[in-house]
This record gives sequence, structure tokens and C-alpha cells, in this order.
Amino acid sequence: MLSINLNIDEKFESLKDGMDYSYLINGNWEKSSSGKTIPIRNPYNKEIIAQIQACTREEVDNCIKIARDSMECWVETPLSKRIEILRKSARLMREMAEPLGNILMQEIGKPIKSAISEIMRTADIFEGTADFATSIGGETIMGDAFEGTARDKLSITYRVPLGVILCIGPFNYPFNLTGSKIAPALVAGNTVIMKPPSFGAITPLHFGIFLEEAGVPPGVFNIITGRGSEIGDYLTGHSGINMVAFTGSSETGIHLSKVAGMKPLLLELGGKDAAIVLDDADLEITVNSIISGAFSFSGQRCTAVKRVLPMPGIADKLIERVVEETKNLSIGDPAENNTIGPLITSKQCDYVQGLIDDALQKGATLKCGNRREGNIMWPTVLDHVTTEMRVAWEEPFGPVLPFIRIQNAEQAIKISNESMYGLQGMIFTENIDLAFNIAQELEVGTVQINGKSSRGPDHFPFLGTKSSGLGTQGIKCSIESMSRPKVVVMNLTEKGKLIRECGVYEK
Ligand code: NAP
Repeated sequence: MLSINLNIDEKFESLKDGMDYSYLINGNWEKSSSGKTIPIRNPYNKEIIAQIQACTREEVDNCIKIARDSMECWVETPLSKRIEILRKSARLMREMAEPLGNILMQEIGKPIKSAISEIMRTADIFEGTADFATSIGGETIMGDAFEGTARDKLSITYRVPLGVILCIGPFNYPFNLTGSKIAPALVAGNTVIMKPPSFGAITPLHFGIFLEEAGVPPGVFNIITGRGSEIGDYLTGHSGINMVAFTGSSETGIHLSKVAGMKPLLLELGGKDAAIVLDDADLEITVNSIISGAFSFSGQRCTAVKRVLPMPGIADKLIERVVEETKNLSIGDPAENNTIGPLITSKQCDYVQGLIDDALQKGATLKCGNRREGNIMWPTVLDHVTTEMRVAWEEPFGPVLPFIRIQNAEQAIKISNESMYGLQGMIFTENIDLAFNIAQELEVGTVQINGKSSRGPDHFPFLGTKSSGLGTQGIKCSIESMSRPKVVVMNLTEKGKLIRECGVYEK
């Protein structure tokens, strides 16, 4: 077993110079020759807390070249060693979860407890990936299963890496959702270029420290920083990249799929998850799921509950209880672990406000909220929302919960499926047979019965249909997506063959 023998606090300091963070190429933390940096502001108090490098195209080229040159060494590294490296990285993350969670809290305004648990959950993904990787295998198929082929042909299939994988994460889980790509990519034998989101870049930069310390050779894991709008297309379209694993908005994901050409893609995109609440639902389970699903991290989650479709027999009491609980949510400084904190930018607040204004102008009933201070938007519940209102279809990525009252299950299915998104759906009812039937009709990746939509546990498959994604994540599925089968066919001759007479076999 590898031992942890560093003062990692000092290592944390090594990737920055004052407020300026570096990018990582071939094991070295460097400043960009552009001389330009991008400021990172704390969304709560708007103070600049750090600056990241705005890398140039030439630096992208160099990084990708290094990653390509490192492929041979990494693929030759025994799987058992790659697994050991993931385990050691996970231990380091756990050890540093508090200070790193504190950085995460400052750069994206996530409540401190959730920020620390994001680091811990990422360590769990590294461990879980290491566990699963021990059973990565292949298969042997004898030829005689297929008409016209005999046992003198046999295929041996095993998995090989794809090459260089570009991992791009979103601002809302910048550590976890880049980590969930990096771990399977590396264990499968790929080298990696990570491009962190510009909001939320600092925390994932620390993967460079953890992985180096755990034993990843220089050049196998590299980090390019810069605005997606400036270097994103160049990175994605680069001929040196073999696969793009991306989490972010549907708009960016769809654009990226056009730029990427023939490269395999793994896309986790936006959602508009609907909670269908039938008359017989358990009220308290439903209320608790809706509150935590809609308002955790101020609604800035892909799998947030983004609309509720209640049946007539439960709608009034459900809305009343949801409003009661919404008014009890704590609001304010993420350092004090308030549920509702700042949205990532004031532009995002304007967008959310636009959705609320549109709904109110078109006749929705305001039950609570609709107040803003700085980047903090008060949690807002809207009743009597109709399908003519934007908030019925658009992803707010903020604390706004529309109730669209329905008359029957068929109407709920129709409204759910008319969305351009297809991430998850929820059904709350005691009638499991009916729930299962509705689940079969919903055009989404996952249906939750009597629970809020969520990503995870991380060994479950996770995917979106329509504009919500492409490909499937989850520990096993991610490793499979980031590797491919290699088939070797043995064509045997009669030489040395033992011939037995049995009357059935005729060549
Ligand atoms: P975003 O604006 O699409 O950005 C995501 C990432 O893409 C960032 O790293 C961004 O870099 C980069 N990027 C931007 N333009 C690019 C380009 N042309 N080429 C390559 N990369 C580019 O999304 P976000 O605001 O960070 O995240 C919120 C969205 O993510 C929501 O829609 C949410 O539903 C979705 N999301 C989905 C899941 C899921 O699992 N399905 C999970 C979390 C979030 P810059 O920051 O430098 O622009």
C-alpha cells in the first residue's frame, strides 16, 4: 500500500502565486503566456477570491501533445497500480475535505456542509471506481454458436482505453462531476485533459495535487483553464482528443456535439424533472421530497424538482404544506449553512426573475417568495401555472417551484413528455402498480417512485433522454463508455485436433 507522507497544505499552496492559480501541464504548474487571467468572484459577497489562467490555443496544443505522448506509459501501467492510485487519491480527498470544501463554498456559494459532502462523495466515487475496476474483464466466444461456423474460430475480447479524454464539468458540482469522469477515464487506461468550469475552477484544480501525490505520472493528467466560449470549441474539435465527457447545459452540450464530429460523447445535460402527485400519496414523504428536491443549493441542480403536477384530491393541502415548509427555509450566508444562498451570477438571477414575472403576468398565483437581495433569490412557489407560461418548460436553475394542477394521470404523462428534456421523473402514490405503469410511459432516463429525483447512488446508471443527454454514466457504465472492446480472433487449424466419432457432428 502507498503511504501518505506529504504536508498537503503546502502542496495546496504550490498551485498558486498569491491569488493567481496556474494550469497543469506534464506535472508542472504554469502561468499562461497570454498574460491574461479570469477573476473568480464569491457569488455571496462578490469579492474576487482568485484568478485562473486564460490559456491559449498553443497551450491547448501542448497539453494535448503531452497527454498523447503519455498514453503508452499509462496503458502499460498495471491495472492493479491504477486502482491503487485511485484509492490513495480518495484517502487524500477525505483528509482535505474540510479546507477544500471551504474553497468550494467560497467560489460557488454552496452551503458549507454540502460543499464538504461533495468532496467526500467524490472520494467515494474514486473508491467505488477502484472496487469495480478489479473486475474489468472480457469474454471468450466459441465460433460454433453461429450457423456455419465451427469451434476452430474463437474470439477473445478485452477492453482497451480510447486515448485522450477531455473532461468538462459544470459550475454546480465542479469537483464531483469532473471527478466522476476522471476516475473511470484513468482507471480504464486513458490520459486526461480536464477543463474546469470558470465559475468553480479552483476546487477541481486540486485533482492535480491529489493525483500526482497518489502516483499518477506527469503528463497523464493535465488541466487547461480558460473560458469555454474562448477555448471550448478548439479543445472539443481537436484531433488529438479521442472522447469528450461533458456535464453542463443542454445548449452547450448540443453545440459541443456539432463541434466534436465523430468523437464518442458522454453528455449529461439539463432537466425539467416533474413530480406527479396522485391523490393517495403520503403527504409528508411527498412534501419533504419536494422541498429538498426543489430548494437544495437554491435549486441549482440538474435533478432538482422543477415542476409539480398534483391531482385535484391532494393539490390544495400539498401546496399549503409546501408553502409552509418553504417559508421555514433558512436564507443567507453559505458559510452558515443556509439552504438558500446566492445564485452563481446576477445574470442568472435576472433570468429566474424573468420566469417569475412572465408567470405572474399570465395569471399564476404567487404563494411565497419573489424577493431578491444581491444574488439571493427568495424561494418562490407559484400555483395555477399553465402550459402557456415559460416556467412550465424552461429550466430556472434557481429556487422557483411551479405547480401545474392536473385532472388525471394521462394529462400528467402528456405534460411531462412534452418537455424537450428527459432527465428524471417522479411519481408519488401508494398504488405501486399504477406507479409502475406511469413510469413506463415517461420519456426520461430514470423514474423515482416516492422519492425525489437525484443522481446516484453513483453505481446506478445515470442518463438523460432527448436534450438531457447522450450515453450513460454510473461507475460501471462510465468505465465501459471510456473504453472499447478489442477483439482478437483465433483461427485454429486441424493440427493436433482430437477427432471423435459421434454421428451428429458433420463438418
Ligand atoms: P454551461 O454553461 O453549459 O457550462 C458547462 C461547462 O462547459 C463549463 O465548464 C463551461 O466553461 C464549458 N463550456 C462552455 N462553452 C463551451 C464550449 N463551446 N465548448 C466546450 N466547453 C464549453 O453549464 P453550467 O451553467 O456550468 O451548468 C449548469 C447546467 O448544467 C444546467 O443546465 C444543469 O442542468 C446542467 N447539469 C446537468 C447535470 C446532469 O447530470 N445532467 C449535472 C449538473 C449540471 P466556462 O465555465 O468556462 O464557460
